[in-house]
Amino acid sequence: MSLESPYALTDAEQAILELVTRVAREKLEPNAEAIDREERFPEESLRLFKELGLMGCHLPEEYGGGGLRSLVFCRILEEVARKCANSANILSQQDFAATPILLAGTPQQKQKYLPALAQGEKLAAFALTEPNAGSDVSSIETRAELRGDGYVINGSKQFITWGNMAHVMTVFCKTDPSRGHKGISAILVERGTPGLSLGRLEKKLGMGGSPTAQIIFEDCRVPEENLLGELHGGFTIAMNCLERGRVGVAAMAVGLAQGAIDAAARYARERRQFGKSIAEFQAIQFIFADMATAVEASRQLLYCACHEADRGGPNANRLSAMAKLLASDSAMEVTTNAVQVLGGYGYLKDFPLERMFREAKVMQIVEGTNQIQRLIIGREVLFPRN
Ligand SMILES: Cc1cc2nc3c(=O)[nH]c(=O)nc-3n(C[C@H](O)[C@H](O)[C@H](O)COP(=O)(O)OP(=O)(O)OC[C@H]3O[C@@H](n4cnc5c(N)ncnc54)[C@H](O)[C@@H]3O)c2cc1C
Repeated sequence: MSLESPYALTDAEQAILELVTRVAREKLEPNAEAIDREERFPEESLRLFKELGLMGCHLPEEYGGGGLRSLVFCRILEEVARKCANSANILSQQDFAATPILLAGTPQQKQKYLPALAQGEKLAAFALTEPNAGSDVSSIETRAELRGDGYVINGSKQFITWGNMAHVMTVFCKTDPSRGHKGISAILVERGTPGLSLGRLEKKLGMGGSPTAQIIFEDCRVPEENLLGELHGGFTIAMNCLERGRVGVAAMAVGLAQGAIDAAARYARERRQFGKSIAEFQAIQFIFADMATAVEASRQLLYCACHEADRGGPNANRLSAMAKLLASDSAMEVTTNAVQVLGGYGYLKDFPLERMFREAKVMQIVEGTNQIQRLIIGREVLFPRN
């Protein structure tokens, strides 16, 4: 659908989006099924994104990034996820995991890490979740103690995207366990640091192209200068990163759901039962009406949230939570119904719908479950900060 949008793009932005749309169709979509089947990280997508300068397209130009605003970045994620969610996740993850350095890094830390992340020469991870602390961030147990001129880290992290392959990760640790969430600090840990080791690589329902790892810290020593932001300021850094990252999850959910509609519509027009195309049955048309309405509502809310973030508006937190909630719940509903449109064939691996159905589920869980999004929104509605 083409609309006169209040979120219009400049000619240059439009050109980037058209390029991405074409590349996603011609180069990424053909690999989507194999990446899922083989559960492998799509190196070819990473290479392509590096060539196109997309890895840091949302990072500021002064660090070698593309300086794109959130609205354009999210539209890129949307177009890529429409064809290959595993590939979209590369762009989303790199941007999300670079955010702590961008928001809280010293000039030296930014210069050391951001240009390499923007070029895709290095990859980043965001290590917050632990076996005993998921939604309840304040209860993390990983401990960092200042001993001499460095922090010594002990503990473990769970579900860390790219934990097995990131060159640098932001690790959230308790630096003062007596102070709850006010005793958390963010510390940069580079790959290869003694005391840092890889635990399990998780087997997942979907998104097998995005490795998820357990990370273990045993007397892992890093220099004191690796502290990111203020001592005990880690909780605020984590929350600010999640606020910025949520629109990325929403964008992937919108794209994925649109991809499911595209695939189901192609099938519905061709499949014949009772002497006619199933697309002619009103019951099927109503499924498409509901799917398209849910996706369009999610998309408009996403663009609104991006616009608010880009202008530094006061409602960015609430809107990004709303966009993530609506888009991921819609993606789950849409992919479920798109499988139904294909009948038994929707359940087979011969068609992309069962993969999309599995991929949609994680969007309701990551970067704060949708129950947590509801908590954020509910609190902001009832106890507004502005
Ligand atoms: C594929 C994948 C990739 C991930 N990548 C990363 C990563 O890179 N870095 C990282 O740090 N984490 C990552 N995560 C972890 C993810 O952020 C957590 O799984 C998520 O925050 C939920 O935590 P949990 O799994 O421990 O669930 P829990 O917090 O134990 O929640 C279990 C259930 O209880 C509900 N619940 C919990 N508290 C409340 C409450 N107060 N009110 C109502 N309901 C509640 C939840 O919504 C959920 O339904 C990833 C997870 C997955 C699956």
